[in-house]
Amino acid sequence: TTGLGGCAGCGIALQSEAADKPGFLPQSAASRQPAICQRCFRIKNYNDASSVTVDQNEFVKLLSGIGATNSLVVHIVDLFDFEGSLISGLQRFVGGNPVLLVVNKTDLLPKSTNLNRLRNWVQKQAKAQGLRTVDVVLCSAMRNTGFDRVIEAIQTYREGRDVYVVGATNVGKSTLINRLIRDYSDLDRELTVSRYPGTTLDAVRIPLDDGKAIVDTPGIVYASRMTELVPRSVLHALLPEKPLKPLVYQLEEGQSLFFGGLARFDFVVGKPQSFTLYVAPAMKVHRTKLERADELYAKHKGEMLSPPSKEELDEIPVWTRHTLRIPPGGNSDVYISGLGWIHANGEAGAHTDVYAPKGVKVLVREALI
Ligand code: GDP
Repeated sequence: TTGLGGCAGCGIALQSEAADKPGFLPQSAASRQPAICQRCFRIKNYNDASSVTVDQNEFVKLLSGIGATNSLVVHIVDLFDFEGSLISGLQRFVGGNPVLLVVNKTDLLPKSTNLNRLRNWVQKQAKAQGLRTVDVVLCSAMRNTGFDRVIEAIQTYREGRDVYVVGATNVGKSTLINRLIRDYSDLDRELTVSRYPGTTLDAVRIPLDDGKAIVDTPGIVYASRMTELVPRSVLHALLPEKPLKPLVYQLEEGQSLFFGGLARFDFVVGKPQSFTLYVAPAMKVHRTKLERADELYAKHKGEMLSPPSKEELDEIPVWTRHTLRIPPGGNSDVYISGLGWIHANGEAGAHTDVYAPKGVKVLVREALI
């Protein structure tokens, strides 16, 4: 124990002995106000996220602890990576506490998106995953839309209790909590916000006026999301920051699409039809004949088919194939966690194959849009 207290950025206990350990605060900066650790200081001032991994056992312990509290659990998920960011089994951990589901990043969807339909979709999917929610609120922490509804819902369901905020990494939890603090508490300190996964290290208690607190928990890391499997330099190609511009591809069976060198989609059998791609604008899509796809990949991965670059290729798990049958009706997405999704428009359905790095969650779902 050092008597230095906790970091106002990430909550970790401060120490001035070991520069390579979490919570380091140099002696020379001990009087810094607010007191924040070296890592948070760097992120805030130089936008330089130093790499600290969150112990998953700790995370599970923390989650289990929630069951014993009397609180409102606010679960934030990323609309762009819904299935990847939903904490499966959350229901088991929360005990009798209510769960408010906050769906962030609605700004990414095209303006024409029907939000009521979207909300129903979210409710249905959450239920299918065994999660009971008291309410579902859609918002964009970045654009500050729907945020009044989030505050309102928290007020409504909190009933004088603590608020535990849980979410996977990169869902916008820090961004949202910073907004909560600004709007909702008289504390004007900001948490660490960064585009890199895993940068909020420890649980942070943010006191509220009534003696209760908002508790920000560390982001859980899921290896089933493409965003967690790629080197940081590749993240910009995966994470969209502006509304998605759906790309429509008219395909015949026997054609393939490459998403850089990160994934491949084969239209194996089916009537000619259009596929609508919802991926980050920085993602390079390349169309080819299926029969030539293997050869093209072998020849051009890391170059024409990038990211990843040649140097980054070794850092990503090798691809595995997912054989997916798209049901008739033209109302299904092929979803690739962290990369986005492909809406299949054909009434008659299709047989498709998806290649993605081993471990990445790939599935067919009811269309989001
Ligand atoms: P955390 O890891 O969950 O705490 O997520 P952060 O708050 O650090 O945000 C992760 C990334 O998502 C950053 O690049 C943010 O700019 C971005 N982000 C956060 N909220 C939104 C949002 O509402 N819309 C969009 N498009 N991006 C967001």
